[in-house]
Amino acid sequence: MNTFSETEFRRKFPILQKLNKDSGLIYFDNAATTQKYKAVIKTSQNFYQESNANVHRGSHFLSAKATESFEIVRLQVQKLINAKSAKEIIWTKGTTEAINLVAQCFGLTNLSAGDEIVVSQAEHHANIVPWQNLANQIGVVIKVLPLDKCGRIDLVQAQRIISSKCKLLAINHISNVIGKINPIEQLIALAKGVGAKTLIDGAQSIAHTIIDVQALDCDFYVFSAHKMYGPTGIGVLFGKQELLEKMPPYQFGGEMIKKVSFTGTTYNTLPHKFEAGTPNIVGVVGLGSCLELFSPSFLTPMTEYEQRLCQYAYQGLTTIPGLEFLVEQQPDIPLFSFTINDLHHHDVATFLDSKGIAVRSGHHCAMPLMDLFKLDGSVRVSLAPYNTFAEIDELIKQLKLLVQGDETDQTSTSIKPSLESINTPDQTQIINLFNKANSWDLKHRQIMLLAKQLPRIDKQQRTDDDLINGCESNSWLQVSLDLTTKQLSFMADSDAKVIRGLMVIILSAYQHKTAEQIIAFDISNFFSQLGLMQHLSPSRGNGVRAIVERIEQLAASYL
Ligand code: PLP
Repeated sequence: MNTFSETEFRRKFPILQKLNKDSGLIYFDNAATTQKYKAVIKTSQNFYQESNANVHRGSHFLSAKATESFEIVRLQVQKLINAKSAKEIIWTKGTTEAINLVAQCFGLTNLSAGDEIVVSQAEHHANIVPWQNLANQIGVVIKVLPLDKCGRIDLVQAQRIISSKCKLLAINHISNVIGKINPIEQLIALAKGVGAKTLIDGAQSIAHTIIDVQALDCDFYVFSAHKMYGPTGIGVLFGKQELLEKMPPYQFGGEMIKKVSFTGTTYNTLPHKFEAGTPNIVGVVGLGSCLELFSPSFLTPMTEYEQRLCQYAYQGLTTIPGLEFLVEQQPDIPLFSFTINDLHHHDVATFLDSKGIAVRSGHHCAMPLMDLFKLDGSVRVSLAPYNTFAEIDELIKQLKLLVQGDETDQTSTSIKPSLESINTPDQTQIINLFNKANSWDLKHRQIMLLAKQLPRIDKQQRTDDDLINGCESNSWLQVSLDLTTKQLSFMADSDAKVIRGLMVIILSAYQHKTAEQIIAFDISNFFSQLGLMQHLSPSRGNGVRAIVERIEQLAASYL
């Protein structure tokens, strides 16, 4: 593709053609991972079919061919981010591994107790936990930069916090929750002013902006290929050569050595010193095939289109009654995090899922940021340039229906569960309900209807002891024993309506049963008869498992 055209671009993503035709899927979870560019899929398949061999070490034609394809991509990535040398491009599994590498190889050898690592309030866990681990290892101190009202790192506060004690500034270029471009040029200058090194987490920026590491003059820049239409399991650590030279290897084994003997081993030169073992060859080669999308001549019109989508979606979202963005003003990339009135974020996401719209809900791997907003999560809608205005219209339409209550409150014509049917748990009845509901949309409606049948536990009566570990929403379970019948009765509640509905289903199997009956019951068989598990995201699926485990645990204590 030489020039960007929105329709042509969309056609280059086979999954969109297929899912859109089969189920009308609208994919708005691009900040988690982007869909894969056709050329990436083709190159990966071709590599396995035509060029597969291990790189660097073979003494045959195929290995030389594989090595060439592999190393060309390193040069292309060097060009993409304008690194001085290909030696500064290290392959990693992704952003997370790249940050861990810097923490262990740079941090352990260059920092000591009392030195400060400065991050921001809006970091992904990948740019928090490796530093916390380092703090446990050697006693470095983590300082946190606050945000301004718009969600960008506050430069005034940064001047105060980035002091001579700061030895490393590790911040995101664009937060995966806020979508605003941070003033990294000024922040890097501040850090350099006090002699600190800098690491920029570019996971969310790489697909949206031109990156020039020499102009930025950052010491490390990290990103993942899967957020730029490329393969999963491959990412990049850029590091300045003089720093990488002095850092010890990350992992040890083949590839990263020059000479091994039982009296001593010498390590390979850059970049191989940091690439122990057989690398993700097909990942690298696949990444090479999406890089054409980031040449300035392509990226510029692509981001212009993205900006139009951004503005359109922002304006549409502002018309939803009760919708509140986490921060003020339109984001710089089409990534929107919001809450809607008292609707739980999981309920919004499952509702949209039942309408074929994929969004993310939860803490987005940014729990400290959620703490700042006093939220346990939000809804996140993130767009890519293969999305369309019509898809945004559909999102806005569905959100309006949800808010008006037209959807979840509507009683489906053929299925009307009665309060009685839930109080007198009857699995057959539940199975019938779900068998009649033959689409995810209808099944979802049933879950939401069932949720209404669950009596809420008074807020004062929910204790931390009743909290169910493993549910992404706050969920509680209480039990009591009838001494005569030896039957157990459960009270359950959750912040998320979808979880309350699932609780009704689960309780239909366990309510007023003895501990022995509860332990003996095969819940997975029950759930598979309902045809539900394939529609529950891992977090909600794990939530179901967590509820069941808690019930079984409680039952076991009565055996
Ligand atoms: N940093 C940011 C800002 C991210 O958005 C992500 C992923 O969502 C990561 C780090 C971690 O990236 P990966 O899971 O590809 O290692």
